[in-house]
Amino acid sequence: MLGKEKHSACTEFNLEALKKVIRVFHPEDSVVSIQGTGHEIHAIGGGMLGIIAGPCAVENEQQIINIAKTVKAAGASFLRGGVFKLRTNPYSFQGMGIEGIKLLAAAKKETGLPLVSEITEIKQLEYFNGIDIIQVGARNMQNFSLLKELGKCGKPVLLKRSLASTAAELLMAAEYIMDEGNVNVILCERGLRTFETFSRSTLDIAAIPWLKQRTHLPIIVDPSHAAGDAALVPAVAKAAIAAGADGLMLEVHNDPEHALCDGEQSLTPDTFSDLMTDLKKYAELEKKRL
Ligand code: PEP
Ligand code: MN
Repeated sequence: MLGKEKHSACTEFNLEALKKVIRVFHPEDSVVSIQGTGHEIHAIGGGMLGIIAGPCAVENEQQIINIAKTVKAAGASFLRGGVFKLRTNPYSFQGMGIEGIKLLAAAKKETGLPLVSEITEIKQLEYFNGIDIIQVGARNMQNFSLLKELGKCGKPVLLKRSLASTAAELLMAAEYIMDEGNVNVILCERGLRTFETFSRSTLDIAAIPWLKQRTHLPIIVDPSHAAGDAALVPAVAKAAIAAGADGLMLEVHNDPEHALCDGEQSLTPDTFSDLMTDLKKYAELEKKRL
């Protein structure tokens, strides 16, 4: 039976214990949906492909509004933008913080796109009232106290798989959130740390069908952090949809060369728009709506 895994002799890894997350207890696909400012529905899962696009980090008002307008015009359904950044190098740009949240709100007012932004500490939650989907980054996937608090926050959570965890551990992390009563959880594959160096991370593409067999939760893919190179992103994005992903999170920047964070992996508005045109065909093949 799905859910009883090879290593289930160890109860710690027995997926059957995950009563909220696994499909055995909830056969239909879950859908996470947000009502837009014009009462339209922005959904991820259950036949709806959700495309989350925007810069790695919010940098200034002009930048975020400009990008929000271009990704919306190309067909994105959500705007992303980090304001609390967990950077590997302590001297790298750490994000705009609360000021950035205000600029995201301005971009939503301008475009109507629901917002996705990363929380890095639970004490930031009071600033996330205007954020529609709260992202938990790879580095916090097993920050269990954060996950439990987000289980009570009443907002959808986008949970990214960590650089060095198994797909089963991702499901267990999601159960922490759901066990507190939050049914709106989206999983995100964003690549693993391996011996390979040509890419920033190695995307575990087989995890998409593996997870979909075991959980009803929507699963999206972040080709930007997986590939780490904008030239690879469109092909990886298409592969993710072909493998059954319910959506994508893509970094897009109006001026990637001068981006304060992750410019090398950011699509330009033009390459994003071309990719969206291609993705419409992939969506049709998968019988999903973009
Ligand atoms: C991000 O999405 O901006 C990010 C920091 O990603 P990850 O947590 O996957 O590294
Ligand atoms: Mn980034």
